[in-house]
Amino acid sequence: MWKLNHLTTRKARLDFSSSGQPQADVTQLWESDIELVNAVECVNWSDSDHQFMICESCGFAGCKSQDWVEIRRTGSIAIITPAFMRLEEAPKSLENEYLPPHYLLERGAIYIEQESYKSMLCLAPFPTFETLSPLSTWAASKIFQLEAPNRVLGHILYPPKLCMDIVIASSEGNFMEQTSELISLINTLLIADRPAILRRRTERDQVISLYLDISGFPEWAALSYDGSRYALYLNPGYIIE
Ligand SMILES: [Zn+2]
Repeated sequence: MWKLNHLTTRKARLDFSSSGQPQADVTQLWESDIELVNAVECVNWSDSDHQFMICESCGFAGCKSQDWVEIRRTGSIAIITPAFMRLEEAPKSLENEYLPPHYLLERGAIYIEQESYKSMLCLAPFPTFETLSPLSTWAASKIFQLEAPNRVLGHILYPPKLCMDIVIASSEGNFMEQTSELISLINTLLIADRPAILRRRTERDQVISLYLDISGFPEWAALSYDGSRYALYLNPGYIIE
């Protein structure tokens, strides 16, 4: 996951002439050099999920495909993730329609501290923190899948699945036991049907990396161990419970 630090606005003018409408002055949201939202005024903010990059020919949410997100809360953070529920419920013929913006696919989910989130409300009509739905354990497992290197848990359109043979070593302990543990933890989250807890890593939590049998042997900081049990680990410094 990556943290939203300093959201800024830029003004832009969209040419809607091809849809028979006048030009529209809109507000974009940027984090550093990443454009998160291309037209604040056109986003379907009141729905349970949102299209962050709107069709620039007409300004209607849902006209173009992709760039859908959902915003959830857990503890004192808000998280912007792919629209996992919409993706899950979409018929097979529309499964690519609701894929997330490229910045979520490339960099992972975005987290925002509650105080920062509240300050974002003056830039755009985000849902208030209190009205965000809690992050479910199922969605937490999907974030874990999204963040895994080299799509080792499969594409987010499908349930997370790990081929055991792909893990060839770990930074500490028995990697085969840890791989089984990881699969079991994911499966438990998938069916738990309760709000997830993302807690901050403490000194007691040792982060364990798995090494993958893929070109470059990527290191995957996937687990934490507190001396008695394992948990799934999310960079930078969050543990899923
Ligand atoms: Zn359009």
